[in-house]
Amino acid sequence: MPELQVTQQCNLRCEYCAYAEDNYKNARTHSDKRMSRETAFAAIDFFINRNPELSEVVIGFYGGESLLEFDLIKRCVEYANSKVEGKRIRFNLTTNGTLINDEVADFLVENDFILNVSIDGSEEEHNRSRKYPDGTGSFATIISNINNLRNKYPDYERKITISTTINPYADLSCVLEYFSTDEIFQDKSIMFNQMVEKDYNGPCMPGVKRLFVRTDGALFPCERVNETLDFFKIGTIEDGIDIDKVLGLLNIGKLTSDECKSCWALRQCSLCAGLISFDESPTREDKLRSCPECKSRSISDIYELCVLSEFGYKAEGGSFLLE
Ligand code: SF4
Ligand code: SF4
Repeated sequence: MPELQVTQQCNLRCEYCAYAEDNYKNARTHSDKRMSRETAFAAIDFFINRNPELSEVVIGFYGGESLLEFDLIKRCVEYANSKVEGKRIRFNLTTNGTLINDEVADFLVENDFILNVSIDGSEEEHNRSRKYPDGTGSFATIISNINNLRNKYPDYERKITISTTINPYADLSCVLEYFSTDEIFQDKSIMFNQMVEKDYNGPCMPGVKRLFVRTDGALFPCERVNETLDFFKIGTIEDGIDIDKVLGLLNIGKLTSDECKSCWALRQCSLCAGLISFDESPTREDKLRSCPECKSRSISDIYELCVLSEFGYKAEGGSFLLE
């Protein structure tokens, strides 16, 4: 699935945001860079032309806050629809939910978008981190927008998914209580974390499941990697995928193969290059420095899995549904 970074700007300033200044060394920060219509159309062509065998095309829109570029998204949908004769096409939108007005709601429903909105729990939990630049919490606006959408289009509700970031200071049982009792969320799939899966859970195949297209047309394996590092840039929409760069990303598993063989966290380990801190390309030492954090994440995943199960949630892939 190609995911288009339509803008690097956002109308919120969440405390844990990967793009907040000072949060992550050398990472990009919020900026006014936006994707041009030419780049967006070229990215859509790139994906459709290189995957003629697909019977279904999925295109995602991402930011910053993607709805700051609502006009561009509308044009992309129109363009993509004109390019996929005989195929099914679906669209995803990742948004903070603050800009879903009536016009946006009509458009999302009309084009059958899967909508992914970030809500971190009750008003108090959510507003702790997810704030406007002036420090005001965003909860009331988002809930009001979602309620308007639900009231206008009750059947659309099943297309809305919620992403939740658990604040380290949050009371997990209160967060779960809120989601399981609030009318809006009762039947929803809530994405908490990548949870324990049956098989080895290592780095994904760069560019295969997803392909992140930066505002300028540079290609990255996903939206989570540091876009300022050349190591992660696996190509451009003009020149295509650079296989050597992809191999470089895949081979990070080998850096610590001896240590991994005897590590208890191997089956849950999701330590991809995007989670390792390094300057140019990751070394064995860089990777080993990230292992303790990865292991403690595995422990907290197992803890969350137990608590979620206690509350009647059923695991399905990386998300949880209330049974
Ligand atoms: S809504 Fe997303 S991009 Fe915007 S500040 Fe919050 S975490 Fe960052
Ligand atoms: S935590 Fe480190 S040693 Fe353990 S499996 Fe993951 S990368 Fe290997």
